[in-house]
Amino acid sequence: MAGDGIGPEIMTEALKVLDVLKRDGLKIETEWALVGGAAYDAVGHPLPPATLALAKSADAVLFGSVGGPQYDALPREHRPEKAILGLRKECDFFANLRPANVFPELADASTLKPEVVAGLDIMIIRELTGDIYFGEPRSISGEKGQRVGINTMHYTEAQIRRIMHVGFRTARQRNNKLCSIDKMNVLEAMQLWRDIAIEIAPEYPDVELTHMLVDNAAMQLIRNPKQFDVMVAGNLFGDILSDEASMLTGSIGMLPSASLDANGKGLYEPIHGSAPDIAGRGLANPLAQILSAAMMLRYTFNLPDTANRIEDAVRKTLAQGLRTSDIAKPNEVKASTSEMGDAVVANM
Ligand code: NAD
Repeated sequence: MAGDGIGPEIMTEALKVLDVLKRDGLKIETEWALVGGAAYDAVGHPLPPATLALAKSADAVLFGSVGGPQYDALPREHRPEKAILGLRKECDFFANLRPANVFPELADASTLKPEVVAGLDIMIIRELTGDIYFGEPRSISGEKGQRVGINTMHYTEAQIRRIMHVGFRTARQRNNKLCSIDKMNVLEAMQLWRDIAIEIAPEYPDVELTHMLVDNAAMQLIRNPKQFDVMVAGNLFGDILSDEASMLTGSIGMLPSASLDANGKGLYEPIHGSAPDIAGRGLANPLAQILSAAMMLRYTFNLPDTANRIEDAVRKTLAQGLRTSDIAKPNEVKASTSEMGDAVVANM
């Protein structure tokens, strides 16, 4: 699902990469579907029934980006962004995985000192279906001057359990370290969060479980982010920490993400939006989209070697000095979207 803005441009490059793998024997069937503004323009809805049906029947969805200023005045249910929320809800994608890694060649793009972030490779897992964003009661009530705003932090054992399992399993695919983030010193919902983490830990004796209060975690991410491997957090804290972590890298066009269900089915997409300011001009960095395809191969299709092959090709391309405009220094030659994609393909 390529979507809008730069979505189709960067998806073209990711499909070039998948084509190389198919030529080399990867058995994967791909189908296209309209989504977001493109779907609204064609059939009047950002998530048409045919697109949803295809998403439900697929093992994975490779998603570009949706949205654009021409859709901002539409009623909320017709806005392109509704498609992502609809897909998450209908496919029960409850676990959001956001890696934040810094390729050594791009360490000076971060606002932190290069030695703090060079070689950074962490994964933030955010729960997507519970917490204060969905908890009841919620309201603003009372007379003006004495109004009260209420939201409720709400987590069930089952919700905590399933995201913790994703955390432990992900740690196993990496460096076997899981840091659970909570605020158990003041919040009962977060005491339950910690209790469940401790309860599940014996099922994963090879994974080292630690706990950190969210305020400390926010500080440690800036002070010494390389101490972490996998962090798992609820919806609210994960929302904030994952944005903080992505900005450590300094390059929005580089970061992929995954949203997974309980069986490993997933939706894979760049963390950035549709970048209408540069769409259609061959300026977009396709690496977040290409790395999203690598994540798809690792987490849904369980093909770590194939995922590594893509990631190594990206690393090599950056080491050769290729830079799209978002990651280039002012005096550097700028590669186009397709030049970057072609270089990755050549390096595979
Ligand atoms: P954005 O991420 O689209 O762009 C922010 C800035 O980063 C822009 O200057 C853009 O040119 C640049 N940028 C983003 N991706 C890039 C890439 N691959 N290569 C080079 N530069 C890149 O955020 P925005 O401008 O706030 O939002 C634009 C539209 O995207 C809005 O309609 C928004 O709702 C939508 N959006 C969609 C998603 C999604 O599809 N998951 C996520 C965020 C925003």
